[in-house]
Amino acid sequence: MDKNFGFLQYDRQDDPIVPAEERLKSFQEFHRPLDVEARRKQAARCMHCGVPFCQSAIELKGMVTGCPLHNLIPEWNEELFLGNDQYALIRLLKTNPFPEFTSRVCPALCEKACINGIDSKPTTIHDNEFFIIENGFKQGWMKPQDIKERTGKKVAIIGSGPAGLSAAYFLNQRGHQIDVYEREDHPGGLLMYGIPNMKLDKSVVDRRIDLLEKEGVRFILNTEAGKDISRQELEDNYDAIVMATGSTLPRSLAGVNDQLSGIYYAVDFLKQTTKDLLAKRPWSIDAKDKNVIIVGGGDTGNDCTGTVLRQGCNSVTALEMMPKPPVERLESNPWPEWPKVLKVDYGQTESIERFGKDPRLFTTTISEVYEEDGHITGVQIVKLGSDRKPIEGTEEYLPCDLLLIAAGFIGVPNELSSSFELPLTGRNTISTNGDSKHVDGKLFACGDCRRGQSLVVWGLMEGRTCAREVDESLMGYSNIE
Ligand SMILES: Cc1cc2nc3c(=O)[nH]c(=O)nc-3n(C[C@H](O)[C@H](O)[C@H](O)COP(=O)(O)OP(=O)(O)OC[C@H]3O[C@@H](n4cnc5c(N)ncnc54)[C@H](O)[C@@H]3O)c2cc1C
Repeated sequence: MDKNFGFLQYDRQDDPIVPAEERLKSFQEFHRPLDVEARRKQAARCMHCGVPFCQSAIELKGMVTGCPLHNLIPEWNEELFLGNDQYALIRLLKTNPFPEFTSRVCPALCEKACINGIDSKPTTIHDNEFFIIENGFKQGWMKPQDIKERTGKKVAIIGSGPAGLSAAYFLNQRGHQIDVYEREDHPGGLLMYGIPNMKLDKSVVDRRIDLLEKEGVRFILNTEAGKDISRQELEDNYDAIVMATGSTLPRSLAGVNDQLSGIYYAVDFLKQTTKDLLAKRPWSIDAKDKNVIIVGGGDTGNDCTGTVLRQGCNSVTALEMMPKPPVERLESNPWPEWPKVLKVDYGQTESIERFGKDPRLFTTTISEVYEEDGHITGVQIVKLGSDRKPIEGTEEYLPCDLLLIAAGFIGVPNELSSSFELPLTGRNTISTNGDSKHVDGKLFACGDCRRGQSLVVWGLMEGRTCAREVDESLMGYSNIE
């Protein structure tokens, strides 16, 4: 096998996936890794570029392309090709605390910037990462690390999503005592109760929490900051406090009474589904035989689509206000810019398989909701013009027994910001000074609560850079990169 010209000799081969009709029968993950030889061949496609865009996170026209964590991708692809799997793992873990999450759920900003991607066949960085970390667990290399020296400093982290866990990981490695406060009954944030099980099996979250606990991180669950514990109590007991509470306030729909029975916010629905799945009990919110409308054709809407299909819905339609993107890059959107093209994700593919059509209706919104005895029975939808205003005469009635609102998030809830006296930006996120994660006094913030609704990889990066700032404030210097 040759790596010098691997990019010319070998074609891109993605990890096989279980066919849609088969995977719809369960909530299990459906990617099946390539065998080891095929994997090394995929690593051989990496050109080890002198200027590796994949690890650069450059912002072009307001969108980032390349890995925000600056993962050392060419280095670990090289080690993977050579069969030095433990080295590959060490280089991967140098920048990414939790590759088992990113290699499952990240939209792979790295691959969008890969130079092989100029002809739309980038190196399979995402799948290579999956192999390296899962092989690491399989080989027993992912052991709890012994923290040799403790500093005597205590840090409270509020929220256990990717940002909070990342901050906890790095600060704990530096020897500080970390207590993570979480209002839910389980740590993980949206990794646990947001992203569905078929995309990220919850045993993968538990496996990491177990490692962190063995390394000394303490999780205090069912405890809501601002209600069960005050900022003052935290300031009295800790040397630093990190807010990593996410952007949890869902955007409501103008003119829609969300108190009607049959209407739910997407994360409430997805969270309840995961709780029921793990408890092996009947669905609390069941889409079986129902006509489902999802407002929002993005990633969360797609997760709702995949979920209601698995529950056996009668129909599913996802309304998207934005116009349908082109299938191929436009000339005005060249590599390595983020490709603004139509993404057909797993849920949409499954809908095509089951019902013969993509569930999304573009440039469409709800103009009226119909109800009977307090339960939703149908909706009127309408097309939107380029000015995003409804086009008269395009109204249509759709029957609906279950309406899921996946219209995004609008920042930090009022109760938390007022009880913690958090300074807020105009976007209702926690205000810090530029890229700094410092809020005021002992208080820091990272992740979606600071950055706004984002991605797991950004949560990990925010947690890492926040940990560095906290560490510097406690020790006068930091070696967290
Ligand atoms: C349905 C869905 C699917 C997604 N899928 C993907 C995906 O496939 N890939 C991807 O990259 N990104 C995805 N995202 C985005 C990604 O999950 C988020 O950007 C990421 O989880 C943000 O991390 P975070 O740690 O900042 O916040 P969160 O993950 O939201 O975690 C915040 C945590 O803080 C806790 N909390 C909040 N307030 C308090 C309080 N007062 N006291 C104690 N605890 C509190 C919450 O319970 C939660 O556990 C998805 C988002 C959603 C909603």
